[in-house]
Amino acid sequence: MDWFCELPNLTKTDPEIADLIKKEIGREEFGLQMIPSENFVSPALLEALGSVLTNKYAEGYPKKRYYSGFEFVDPIETVAIERAKKAFGVPHANVQPYSGSPANLAIYVATCNLGDTVMGLNLPDGGHLTHGWKTSVSGMFYKPVPYHVKEDGYIDMDEVSSLAQQHKPKLIWVGATAYAREFDFGAFAKIADEVGAYLVADISHITGLILSGAHKSPVEHVHLIMTTTHKTLRGPRGAMILVTKKGLEKDAELAEKIDKAVFPALQGGPHEHQIAATAVALGEAMRPEFKENGMQIVKNAKALASVLMHRGLKLVSGGTDNHLILVDLTPFGAGKGVFASEALEAARIFVNKNTIPKDPSSPFYPSGIRLGTPTLTTRGMKEGEMELIGGWIADVINEIKRYELPAKEERAEYLKKFRADIKSNSRIADIGTKVRNICSNFPFYFKN
Ligand SMILES: *Cc1c(COP(=O)(O)O)cnc(C)c1O
Repeated sequence: MDWFCELPNLTKTDPEIADLIKKEIGREEFGLQMIPSENFVSPALLEALGSVLTNKYAEGYPKKRYYSGFEFVDPIETVAIERAKKAFGVPHANVQPYSGSPANLAIYVATCNLGDTVMGLNLPDGGHLTHGWKTSVSGMFYKPVPYHVKEDGYIDMDEVSSLAQQHKPKLIWVGATAYAREFDFGAFAKIADEVGAYLVADISHITGLILSGAHKSPVEHVHLIMTTTHKTLRGPRGAMILVTKKGLEKDAELAEKIDKAVFPALQGGPHEHQIAATAVALGEAMRPEFKENGMQIVKNAKALASVLMHRGLKLVSGGTDNHLILVDLTPFGAGKGVFASEALEAARIFVNKNTIPKDPSSPFYPSGIRLGTPTLTTRGMKEGEMELIGGWIADVINEIKRYELPAKEERAEYLKKFRADIKSNSRIADIGTKVRNICSNFPFYFKN
């Protein structure tokens, strides 16, 4: 077994943390990790991420640093930048953002003044917090005009067009965190160009699919691209901002504006261990196996969606084009997401409770669950396994239909009773055993 499972040094010096990390490895290995923003990185990538590069201070950019000692760190960051440019076919890449949310903030700083109008997909409709939601600085410092999905679950492009004409936003986001359909980047570009807005594709969730050819690319349509390096790209937690040729045509200084917004406006020293791991992820993403994996992620999601629907579950938009599925549990009552996600967890199936469009309940007690296929595909599962897993998920959801979310003051007591019920539910326990067995047949970190 590799060092990252054995933790030989840490086990000696800090058994408390070593023990918890080992238990987490077991949880990941012997459970179905179906939160669609998660993935399993390769053991090779973990070696770069766990390396001594974390020791190095590196404020600035390659060849433009404030400290000494860049003989090896500069080439590492340069490789990451060049691989990003090559993988996407863009003239400029910044690989320093600590994560997706700070990267999006850098984009606001580079392109907008405080109080400017920005448009993004409404959060309960699948949009991200950083696209203008009221509790995020994006909604406090800028003036958000949200667009929505239609009754059928697809983005309402007529609304996007009329809101853009009416409000003349400085920036438009295309991208989401809980949207199962393909984005029409060309249609967004037409609207953004008409009103002179910056168009930014936030492809965090679908980058791996885009690099695999399983989702169309935004590169020729947008000015900027933000992607997290975790999620389907299968890299470390982190983010990149890419400036396209079209972006430089709109604003010749866009690349410098982005670099200055990331450092020194928002960040200090970049995380070079994370950047090295990003380079490794991009190297892996340019191999043929990665493309096959991306295609299979979508095939698996479609197979899973069809089993769930066959078992009578309602999916937002009636299916999926990508790696994720949003289940609308309102036919069994409002606020069922928490019951479903906790019961599934008891069966070692990890999904997240999620709002659905026009959710009748609240974000903390939403009426849906969101699940996806990236980690299952990374460990080698195919349509046959999806059929089994979809059946187990439907079986578990069957067990929670009879619970109803009570009024606020009774919730704590009711949920306590619910948790005790699921612990002693033998059907859920049986499914948990089946899940453990299937995971043993598709080892990932434990195969060495
Ligand atoms: C995940 C995600 C982000 C934010 O990434 P963090 O690394 O969690 O800050 C931003 N936008 C979209 C669309 C995402 O899915």
